[in-house]
Amino acid sequence: MEVVAVSPRGYCYGVVDAMTLAQRVARDPKVPRPIYILGMIVHNRHVVEDLARQGIQTLDGGDRRTLLKKVRRGTVIFTAHGVAPEVKEEARRKGLTCFDATCPDVTRTHEVIRDRVAAGCDIIYIGKKGHPEPEGAVGEAPGRVHLIEDADDLAQLRLSPRGATGKIAIVTQTTLSQWDTADLIAACKARFPDAEVYNEICLATQVRQQAVAEQARAADVVLVVGDPRSNNSNRLVQVAQEVAGRPAYLIDSVAAIRPEWLRGVRVVAVTAGASTPSQLTNQVIRYLQGYDPEAPSAAMEADLALKLPGSGR
Ligand code: SF4
Repeated sequence: MEVVAVSPRGYCYGVVDAMTLAQRVARDPKVPRPIYILGMIVHNRHVVEDLARQGIQTLDGGDRRTLLKKVRRGTVIFTAHGVAPEVKEEARRKGLTCFDATCPDVTRTHEVIRDRVAAGCDIIYIGKKGHPEPEGAVGEAPGRVHLIEDADDLAQLRLSPRGATGKIAIVTQTTLSQWDTADLIAACKARFPDAEVYNEICLATQVRQQAVAEQARAADVVLVVGDPRSNNSNRLVQVAQEVAGRPAYLIDSVAAIRPEWLRGVRVVAVTAGASTPSQLTNQVIRYLQGYDPEAPSAAMEADLALKLPGSGR
């Protein structure tokens, strides 16, 4: 079977920096214990398990403010997704040692929001509900930042008297689909023609989506290696389906590949989300390169015997 390894793919600079920071903190004996990460440092369970082996506990299952309530002492690391100022202040008030792994691209989005709110704007923030990045962004100016995910949200958006007559800025989450976002920005502009637009989809997300849109066209099927909770991984599936026009599936490891997806397939394209360890993607590529349609389970068992190396990157 021919395998197209889409390039670029996998870890972005923001994730690499966040992982490096977490590993440095874990190795430093002067850092107060226990060490927590507020949420998954990246949305990938393999990375989370690897950090746990290094002594870093991931707190998950609620918003950042709720998670912070579980921490009484020690150290907290804020994730690459960014965090609301209120959460940082609360961590300091509790006397915790804090490390901030917020990606510089997310930090810039927060700066745009602060700047435009200070200039009198209301913010229409296009992002994914329930994702930590919008949570942090909205927290920059609660009541002035209005999160919308789709055209229905826009239709229901009722701005305050100031917002209805005053200045509006449209700001986006960093990991959205370029194509969906362009449509939603156009819809916002149709309703608020004078709105300023700050498209903050990061370069790493853009080039990975563009690569899938172009390189996946030659494939019969596309596999995206990534965690189900990774927004950028899910967007790559969407781009493969909607822009490249190919069937596409999200898998978190080689074990999730279903033989029926590969039936009659000559060319398979493989890519990975910005939070996916390259070892996982390489396992998938090796498995597919040696794929035997006559005995798929035997090949899979052989590949599953490979272990994820210690660093998770
Ligand atoms: S996907 Fe973009 S914004 Fe998110 S961590 Fe990577 S580089 Fe930063």
